[in-house]
Amino acid sequence: MCGDGFPAERSRGVIAGILRPGGLLPPGQPPYAAAMRVLLVEDDVRVGGALETALRRRGYDIVRAGTAAEALAAPPVDLVLLDLGLPDRDGIEVCRELRRRGDVAIIAVTARAQERDRIAGLRTGADDYVVKPFGMAELQARIDAVMRRAARSVPNRGRVTVEDVTVDLDAHRVTVGDREIPLTRKEYDLLAALARRAGAVVTRDELLADVWQTTWAGNPHTVEVHVAALRAKLGDPGLVQTVRGVGYRLRAAR
Ligand code: CA
Repeated sequence: MCGDGFPAERSRGVIAGILRPGGLLPPGQPPYAAAMRVLLVEDDVRVGGALETALRRRGYDIVRAGTAAEALAAPPVDLVLLDLGLPDRDGIEVCRELRRRGDVAIIAVTARAQERDRIAGLRTGADDYVVKPFGMAELQARIDAVMRRAARSVPNRGRVTVEDVTVDLDAHRVTVGDREIPLTRKEYDLLAALARRAGAVVTRDELLADVWQTTWAGNPHTVEVHVAALRAKLGDPGLVQTVRGVGYRLRAAR
């Protein structure tokens, strides 16, 4: 079905439709205990540098690889951004090998000229792909979508601790030191949504979707009002950071 005239939009749907639910971290590790770590595999130094800067600005930890060999030798990450045109080995093989090793989320990056022959190969395990040239908004949307799918398969278990604040995702309890903090349901859901991705930016739209199950809460200040209330109750205004124009981030545990 990957013959001539296979339209990009449709193929994207096909790719999305064959996704496996991916886990982020090996079982037993607390989800999102630190900033989301991205392996950026890109042999073009200029493109890689620009991407790294843009992604770091959005709160991701970046591990760089310029070759297939470096990519396969890299430490474990939450997400791989994998350029398929690599100097030493076919990116599809790298994708297949990474997938064989575990359930890491993978977004393939392909050049437009190569797109058609690449689609079939992507079925070996990329969760999604972007076609060069792409903008950060598109990339961020794909990262968010892939990680949302992955997060759904990660049970909301365990604890996230940032300094003296602990979010117990099993018990739905929040403590600062020994003191339990009474939160409203929405305040708790908001904090839990941030805690599950501590260190990474969670966009306002994602918070609206996760916490309010809507894209439009009626009041444009709904998220801000709840964030303000949460900060006041936690007694540490710097814990929930504002990323202007994007969303919020729970200061990462270090
Ligand atoms: Ca390349």
